[in-house]
Amino acid sequence: MVAVIECIVNQNVRDAGAARSAALSWDALSLCHAHGVGLLVMPCPEIACLGPARQRAPGVSIATALRADHGVQGCAALARAVADRIQASLDAGTAVLAVLGGNERSPGCAVHETTQSGALPAGVFMEALQGELRRRGLAIPFRGLRDAAPALLAEDLDWLRALLNGQGVQGDQAGAAACRAGPTPASNS
Ligand code: SF4
Repeated sequence: MVAVIECIVNQNVRDAGAARSAALSWDALSLCHAHGVGLLVMPCPEIACLGPARQRAPGVSIATALRADHGVQGCAALARAVADRIQASLDAGTAVLAVLGGNERSPGCAVHETTQSGALPAGVFMEALQGELRRRGLAIPFRGLRDAAPALLAEDLDWLRALLNGQGVQGDQAGAAACRAGPTPASNS
């Protein structure tokens, strides 16, 4: 199984003009489908914190709203709920191979990447989820699916393909090492 942000399976949840494909991001989803890997869909943190209309005061950006107390607390609560689901899956013997986030400029879902010029900021929700999983001793790799740029998305899909090929769905040892709980052949995705 992989945990994936909601807009990968439903582009309609994105803010106006932010969708990058029709309906869903099939490139990533088809990889999971081909490898028999299931999805834990993480609710959109912008909608969870600000509502479907991403309501905020005039002139306030989504990023600023998510960084305010209400947004930070909402993302923390969402991170705990998602971590609970991940924990429960691991406890049930299902490997969680990765957490798949969003574009580098996503206020909620950007994944922290270290570059030659330094670290890019992560989204509020991804930061909270990384912290929550680390507190629980769970070392699950994070990766953004950066569909705002085709070249970056191709890199991310290569990474995901390599991960899925390496982990397999037959209970390969690497999956167990990455996720603490070893999968069983019938329930590892
Ligand atoms: S906040 Fe995250 S889940 Fe919601 S639309 Fe943006 S990237 Fe997708």
